Formats: sequence, C-alpha cells, structure tokens
Amino acid sequence: MKNKNSKVATNNHVDSLLKVFICHRLPERTFKIGKWYFPVCSRCTGIYISMFSYYFFVYFVYVQYNPIIITIAFLMIIPVLLDGLTQFFGFRESNNALRFTTGLIAGLGLGILFKAMKWILFS
Ligand SMILES: [Zn+2]
Repeated sequence: MKNKNSKVATNNHVDSLLKVFICHRLPERTFKIGKWYFPVCSRCTGIYISMFSYYFFVYFVYVQYNPIIITIAFLMIIPVLLDGLTQFFGFRESNNALRFTTGLIAGLGLGILFKAMKWILFS
C-alpha cells in the first residue's frame, strides 16, 4: 500500500507538531531502509548529520570565527534554498540525493553560523 500523501508518523497530533517544527516527513522525500523510514526527510537528514558533525568537530578544535568564514557559511545555505524554492514554485522536481547533498552543505553552514553567533555573543 503506497499513498504519496500519507505521513510517516501514525499519531496525527504528534505528526502535525513534527511537520510544523521539525520536518514535513513526506514518504517520497524520506530515505527508508526496508520498510522503515528515517525520522526526517532526506534534506533534513543531511542538515542534521553535517550540523551535529560540525558541533562534534568544534568540541575538539578551536575555531576563531571571522567575516570570511561567516560569509562562506551564508553561501553554503544558498544551494538548499535554490533546490527547495525551485521545487516549491514548480520549476523542477528535486531528488533525494540532491536534497541530501544540499542539506549536508547547508547543515555545515548553519552549524558554523550558530557557533559563530554564540562565539560573537558570549566571548
Ligand atoms: Zn525535512
């Protein structure tokens, strides 16, 4: 049974909260192993993997943030915006590999930006 509009989660209330705050979790845009879907879509999988990998990295390595690093971090978010927005407005259809790849890049950029904000505000 395959329904493109069905959600991965079974609880409607939890599903609505997750959809609004975490991820849409559309089955056709979510990786799965066998019959088990990942908890978030392919784009969010990439974002979370690279963002938390970056946090793990900076736990051991001191990074002194500067305007060049912050600019590069902003630029790293552009691919995911282009991929998501062109798909949203119907210009093209993305695929899970591209969503995951642009998510990896954007997650690293977001990780750098969040850490840079913390570094600027609290150091
Ligand atoms: Zn997602």
